[in-house]
Amino acid sequence: MSDIALLPSVQRFIDSQPGSFVEGQAISEAGAERFDVFNPSTGEVLTQVAQASPALVEHAVQAAHGAFVNSWGSTTPYLRGVALNRLADLIEANGEELAQLESLSSGKSIHLTRHLEVPQSVVFLRYFAGWATKIHGQTMTPSLPSMQGEQYAAFTRREAVGVVAGITPWNFSLMIGIWKIASALTCGCTIVLKPSEFTPLSLLRVAQLALEAGVPPGALNIVNGSGRIGQQLIGHPGVAKVSFTGSVPTGVAVGKAALSANLTRVTLELGGKNPAAFLADVDVDQAVEGILQTAYVHQGQVCAAPERLYIHSSKVDAICAELAQRLGAMKVGGALDESAQFGPLANKAHHDKIVGFFAQANARGQVLCGGKPLPGPGYFVEPTLLRATDAQDPFLHEETFGPIVTVLPFDDEDDLVRMMNDSPFGLGASVWTNDLAKAMRLIPRIEAGTVWVNMHTFLDPSVPFGGVKGSGIGREFGSAFIDDYTELKSVMMRF
Ligand code: NAD
Repeated sequence: MSDIALLPSVQRFIDSQPGSFVEGQAISEAGAERFDVFNPSTGEVLTQVAQASPALVEHAVQAAHGAFVNSWGSTTPYLRGVALNRLADLIEANGEELAQLESLSSGKSIHLTRHLEVPQSVVFLRYFAGWATKIHGQTMTPSLPSMQGEQYAAFTRREAVGVVAGITPWNFSLMIGIWKIASALTCGCTIVLKPSEFTPLSLLRVAQLALEAGVPPGALNIVNGSGRIGQQLIGHPGVAKVSFTGSVPTGVAVGKAALSANLTRVTLELGGKNPAAFLADVDVDQAVEGILQTAYVHQGQVCAAPERLYIHSSKVDAICAELAQRLGAMKVGGALDESAQFGPLANKAHHDKIVGFFAQANARGQVLCGGKPLPGPGYFVEPTLLRATDAQDPFLHEETFGPIVTVLPFDDEDDLVRMMNDSPFGLGASVWTNDLAKAMRLIPRIEAGTVWVNMHTFLDPSVPFGGVKGSGIGREFGSAFIDDYTELKSVMMRF
């Protein structure tokens, strides 16, 4: 099947020499350094984007501060919710345009952007919008002694922290951007967001729609470019909080920089090496279907996706045989090919890194299926299944963030728990079994921010998400995000 036709508005947007969006205006600075944005499906340059200069980043922080003090920060919670709901409506109405923009620069299948990323962004926005009117403190009765009949009362207020710097990765740049924008704006904060330099387009369009939805100029700013811009934001004294999603090494650098800048609040959503455990009673077909749905979606470039599978030795051969057969039959194609089941990796550097992993796996004779790059143009590789040599196999410990899944059989459940926890990461984990009592006993023993049972990877706005150990600090979604985007002020009164 051939590629879908691009909407004229998408072509116009790409041709418009995009840059940044600051104080309610699309800005492409004259003379700015421009960086190439590639189409991973073809390897060709899609467009060039103007990198925000230090002066423009400064302007963005000042504009966000102005909006915090003068407009958005004093907008009533009800009206904040109304504007966010309107933004959700506009994203829905312009869904195809956003899906095409996102697929073009990320290599994500149009099927996924149309049916998951864009609609889920809308679901998340509406969920957050509902919280705007439900942020509150508590009242307390102090126990201070009363000498002359005086009494005391106390209460807490949740106050927006101020200007938030959001820094996001390339894998779900629209949806992760929306998470940060919605968290900040719901709480009354304003935001300057720096998307990944690989996927700088879709959030620029969201910023235009936000203005249309009634979010005032300066409340949401997008500054595009390299990590240098992230560093400038983190070190800026006007930034009250940094919300980062990305890799562990960058996250550690971001966390240190934020603390040493001004003890700036920081939340880190980092990588994982997520284990999935298939107990002896699992149905082989259901296990295979579950692995295909969760480990290979978006070519495995999903932070929460399972990369290491511990399968009971009585089922390991059957599951691996069926999985290898299904992976080998997947139709590979570009992001805009509606019939493709498996697309390109998101960028050349990541492609080369994954090909390097293939070389190691082939040299060690671990490949059960796949393990080769595919001919270009575009950054295509085969979906890959490896068999681990033992529990210390590097493929059970290092995040690949690609379509490389490694299997190790187990017999004993105490060994299983030890192996699942033998990782510096703790983002997500899953247990697959029909014995729910057994699952309930395993859940508390697993070191992870989220444990799924008979599912994996799925996120929902009502369920807090984040990592333990080296996978991060803080939680998104649920009501948990409110703690991170507001400051708790205590008030005591004598009367
Ligand atoms: P990355 O860490 O390379 O980049 C993330 C962002 O940080 C980009 O915008 C980048 O420009 C910026 N950046 C780079 N250096 C910086 C610096 N010194 N200071 C400030 N900002 C800097 O990550 P990536 O390759 O874009 O994304 C893949 C990683 O993200 C994987 O490890 C994946 O597991 C992780 N991830 C985590 C989650 C989560 O919710 N936990 C979600 C998606 C992706």
